[in-house]
Amino acid sequence: MSRSAHPAGPRHADVLPEGHYSAPPADLNALDPKVWSHTVSRTEDGVVTVGGLEVTALAEEFGTPAYFLDESDFRERARAWRTAFGHDADVFYAGKAFLSRAVVRWLYEEGLNLDVCSGGELATALSAGMPADRIAFHGNNKSVHEIRTAVEAGVGRIVLDSFQEIVRVAHIAQSLGKRQRVQIRVTVGVEAHTHEFIATAHEDQKFGIALADGQAAEAVRRTLALDALELVGIHSHIGSQIFDMAGFEVAARRVVALLAAVRDEHGVELPEIDLGGGLGIAYTSDDDPREPHEIAKALSEIVTRECEAARLSTPRISVEPGRAIVGPTAFTLYEVGTVKPLDGLRTYVSVDGGMSDNIRTALYDAEYSVALVSRTSDAGPMLVRVVGKHCESGDIVVKDAFLPADLAPGDLIAVPATGAYCRSMASNYNHALRPPVVAVKDGAARVIVRRETEEDLLRLDVG
Ligand SMILES: *Cc1c(COP(=O)(O)O)cnc(C)c1O
Repeated sequence: MSRSAHPAGPRHADVLPEGHYSAPPADLNALDPKVWSHTVSRTEDGVVTVGGLEVTALAEEFGTPAYFLDESDFRERARAWRTAFGHDADVFYAGKAFLSRAVVRWLYEEGLNLDVCSGGELATALSAGMPADRIAFHGNNKSVHEIRTAVEAGVGRIVLDSFQEIVRVAHIAQSLGKRQRVQIRVTVGVEAHTHEFIATAHEDQKFGIALADGQAAEAVRRTLALDALELVGIHSHIGSQIFDMAGFEVAARRVVALLAAVRDEHGVELPEIDLGGGLGIAYTSDDDPREPHEIAKALSEIVTRECEAARLSTPRISVEPGRAIVGPTAFTLYEVGTVKPLDGLRTYVSVDGGMSDNIRTALYDAEYSVALVSRTSDAGPMLVRVVGKHCESGDIVVKDAFLPADLAPGDLIAVPATGAYCRSMASNYNHALRPPVVAVKDGAARVIVRRETEEDLLRLDVG
């Protein structure tokens, strides 16, 4: 059966489970500014451009699949966070979302700090010239080597995640003749996902030290007793892709209660509170994320109110957005290889990448949007599932979306909002070569992470 003889859209939508697209968008050629980076638009001849460059030319020069990162959009978002939080707060970009040396330099120039959670991320940050005192080191099982490297480099804070780590970091700092600034990561019993959160006494997860049962208070006691550690604050991170501030409110209230208990027991007011990251972005037109200035206002009001009630002076707030800064700034460009209609169900569109460049759909059931970007089309909508080229049926990039029914091999399609947790989680599954990240700005494109080659693969395989 030919593609054009295969009507799609509403008819196919009937078979979708509730909560999924029930109708195709009014205009398949439209690019919703919510999910695309700021400089993305379509030329009159229908080709999509980013930073003033046509995706067809970009595909020719850099190949596909590839991530195109809109540098001015990245800088604008970083600046918006920095400005929103002002001088009484710190913004730490969570490097795990996506880290490269170019990105580190942009963050430095825009006045942000940086979170790292491994020796590799720390090495990247330091080699790009991020001052160590603007780096925070995270992780639930930092190795002795990683801790020593971080202390030696003079990182601004190490976030302690367990009782063992309190002693481990203190021992290493002492042996180096240093006093290390630390925060204690607590789990406040708030599990937040998108529009819902659950507040419980305990949290069943590997990170942090529980507030419940006086565990966190005991961690504070032990940390304050060690001369090699300077306890500067309490850290809480409640989840990811969160739209609702209510979970942060509960977390802040519980952390401030700990600060008050610490003051009562030890006579010290800890000067910092870190509320973590996890702020959501729009992956599809259904998502409505908040602006940084709204988030900053809400968080500072919550902390101020809780501290006034506890008669504490307001601590310095820090936040750690990763996704909310880099997520919306990039898209993945793919070339369509095959188009396979399954009658009565959907059409499978295979692209030249897949779960090796975007594991989030398989891992988290994440939703994405997709658009035909090398041309416009007047064809009707076709319900598609965009899949990769891996030997794995779970290799899905976009679960359910609509593309024009005349989609054909050779067309370029793009998946927006892939700046966070895509290249950083990319793998070599099936010995795939991880795609490059190309920064685009003011009509110029520059590779900031190059494409892997078969030589790169074989270099690790020592035979
Ligand atoms: C993952 C993580 C972040 C960033 O989360 P986003 O969802 O990307 O904002 C911030 N802080 C900590 C401790 C994290 O683990």
